[in-house]
Formats: sequence, C-alpha cells, structure tokens
Amino acid sequence: MSENQNFLIGIIGSGPIGLECGLHALKHGYQFIIFESGDDIANNVRLWSHVQLFTPLNMNVSLLGKNLLKEEQDINAFLTGGEYIEHYLRPVSCLLQPNIRLHHRVISIGRFHTNKFIIFVENKQSSCEEYFIVDCVIDASGTYSNPNFVGPSYLPAINERALQNKLQSPITYLIPHCNYEQVAGKRIVLIGKGYSAATSAVFLAKVKEAYPKTQLYWIIKQSIDHLPYCINPEDPLIQRRELVASANQIYANKNIFNEIYDKAAVTKFTLSTYSSTVDITIDSPHPTILNNIDYVIANTGSQPDRSLYANLNVQECYRTKGPIALAVKLLSSSSADCLKQTSHGTNSMLTTEKNFFIVGNKSYGKQTNFILQIGFEQVNDIFKLINEQC
Ligand SMILES: Cc1cc2nc3c(=O)[nH]c(=O)nc-3n(C[C@H](O)[C@H](O)[C@H](O)COP(=O)(O)OP(=O)(O)OC[C@H]3O[C@@H](n4cnc5c(N)ncnc54)[C@H](O)[C@@H]3O)c2cc1C
Repeated sequence: MSENQNFLIGIIGSGPIGLECGLHALKHGYQFIIFESGDDIANNVRLWSHVQLFTPLNMNVSLLGKNLLKEEQDINAFLTGGEYIEHYLRPVSCLLQPNIRLHHRVISIGRFHTNKFIIFVENKQSSCEEYFIVDCVIDASGTYSNPNFVGPSYLPAINERALQNKLQSPITYLIPHCNYEQVAGKRIVLIGKGYSAATSAVFLAKVKEAYPKTQLYWIIKQSIDHLPYCINPEDPLIQRRELVASANQIYANKNIFNEIYDKAAVTKFTLSTYSSTVDITIDSPHPTILNNIDYVIANTGSQPDRSLYANLNVQECYRTKGPIALAVKLLSSSSADCLKQTSHGTNSMLTTEKNFFIVGNKSYGKQTNFILQIGFEQVNDIFKLINEQC
C-alpha cells in the first residue's frame, strides 16, 4: 500500500471545484470523501440550472475531466447550469462514486490530536450526526447557499428572517425561473445590481412585456449617475456583454420598472396578517414605503459560511473574509476583469492551518470575480502541496 492510500482527505462540497478535488485525489491515489449537503451533486449550480453560463464549455472543464465529455459535445457551447451538470459534472461524479456522500452537511471542523481533523456532519436524510476523522480538509463549499441579507451593510432588514421562515415565503434570493403567468400582474421588487440582478431584470422585463399590468420596482444600493452597468466593448465574453447591455436598456426604459430607487436600502419588511404580501420600507434620499408587494427577488450576492472552520485557526482577510494569503494576492492584483486573472501559485493556497485548504468560489471570500478556470488551477496547486509532504 502506498503512503497516499493512508492519507484521507475530506472534501466539502460537490460543486465543480469539489469534484475536481475528487479527480485529483483519485489520480494521486489518496483516500477521500466528498460531503455534499444537497440531495444530488452540485446543489448550488442546480439552484441556477436555468441560467446560461457566460463562459464557453471549454473554460468550464479541467484537463483531468475533459475526456469525460461525449465526443459529439460542442466544446465551445454556452451551456445552462443544468446542461453543465448533465454533460460534465455528472460523468465526473460517476467516476468518483462511491466516495460522494449526499445529504451530508458539514457543520463544523476541529483539530483531532495534533495532525488530524475531526469533521462534524449532519446526515439530513437519516437525521443522524456523525464524526469523521481525516488527515486533510479541503473546503469547496462555495458561497451561493449563504446569501447576503438585504438590509444596510448586509445586515438583515427588520423582519427579513421572519419572512424567510414563512411558509411560501414571498422572498427569494435566487434568479427567478417560473411561468410568466405565475407572477403576471403582481407587484414585484428586485434588489441588487450584480450579474444575477441583471439576469432577473431581463426576466422581469419579459413578464412585463407579456403582462403589462405587472408592477416592478428595483432597489439599488449604489448611486447611479447614468446607467447601472459599465459596458466593456472589448469584453471577450459575448453573453456577459449582452446581459449588461440589456439590463442597461431596461433601466433606461421608463416603461418597464414603475420606479427605480438608487442609493437605497431596504430597512424593514412589514408582514401582513391577512395576506401573503409585504410592505417594504426603503431608506433612500427620498424614503418610501412600497405597499402590498407580492414577491421580493433579493440578488444581493453571497458570502462564505465561515462557521464551518470557526474552531480552527484560519487567518482571514478583514475585508474579503477569504483566507489571508490568497486575499493579499487578489487585492493587490490589478485586473478587475475575471478573465484576465491568473492563479496566484501554490503558496497562495496555504492557510494558517496545516492541511486545511479553502478552494473555489469560497476562497475568494466576498469578492465576486471567481471563475472556474482559476478554481481548477487552485486544485492543482493544492495537490502539489499535499504531494510534497506525503
Ligand atoms: C448564476 C451564476 C452563473 C455563473 N456563471 C459562471 C460562468 O459562466 N463561468 C464561470 O467560470 N463561473 C461562473 N459562476 C461562478 C462560479 O464559477 C460558480 O459559482 C461555481 O459554481 C463555483 O463552484 P464551487 O465548486 O466553488 O462552488 P459551488 O458550485 O457553490 O459548490 C459548492 C457545493 O458545496 C455544497 N455545500 C455547501 N455547504 C456545504 C456544507 N456545509 N456541507 C456540505 N456541502 C456543502 C453545496 O451544496 C454545493 O454543491 C457563476 C455563478 C453564478 C451564481
């Protein structure tokens, strides 16, 4: 038995990057377990399965996984999240079975003796709790399942948490994907200004076109001088360029959104006792209350769930909440364009806990410019570090 076979790696998350970790563990002969809280692989990507990726497939597959694509697959295609799962992530996961534990939500990680880790896991199917002892932990749990609140400074707006817990809650943090009829004629509020909000704005504009009586409101934290999105005519990603152009047109067209509030924050939701609607208090240069809102689409971004490693000594960047070594590199790199990024080398993947790594979207903390290509390089770097000491 080789040394590697005695080394057990616990991987948190079966998103594209967690699965990539599995491919590397398999290649190098390590034992590994992938913990996935969802009832299927890539649970977060499934939450946006209807959204088209802005990078072509050739940028979303790794060197190790590429061969698992069917021969007839167009490598330059722009797939939706759902197609990406079925054409690429599913075949990768099949190769990694039976090491993937679905319904296994990692709650907390601690040190066990000097060199090992103990992982506390909740099995959501059996409602059992279990400990796992491993030699190394790679946290690839992403950020998408931990959305920001909508209040000032991402604090919860008053009653936001109660709203979340309501049966058939009118608030969603996802990009909507429903029949137009379902929301036709309703009063809908969109909050946010990132790419997700742009995608939701495009969806809402189509609803409005089909059902002109629908009433739409858009709340944006930033102050907007002219248009909300900067268009880079040189952006090589056509999908992204088109998305921001459409969102700008929607913003400028006074017939789509009834009202747009910039420099504004939601401070309170007032729940109605008699109906499922909410009143929304907006703090802005012209404070307002929007009454009887049927649906709230909160696309205010997400951030890492740091409670998983709260019992370890992981030094974070105070600004981004990402691991410090990588955060320093990211903050000092000049390019804001995610396509121009390069990986920052093996040392940037080290954390202040030996054999504990944070990878993928979560490694960027609150920064929003992570792309899969970089994630694949990060995994390569991490396995170089693991191999050096095994
Ligand atoms: C709408 C949208 C479109 C995007 N489009 C692109 C694109 O075109 N190109 C690109 O390069 N990037 C894109 N990204 C950015 C990024 O590449 C993706 O978010 C990608 O899914 C990140 O992969 P990941 O594996 O790091 O995390 P995730 O895909 O978020 O996977 C994390 C996994 O961990 C699981 N998990 C979370 N917490 C726990 C826990 N406690 N215990 C166990 N399991 C847990 C989740 O269920 C999930 O399956 C997009 C992001 C979004 C939101």
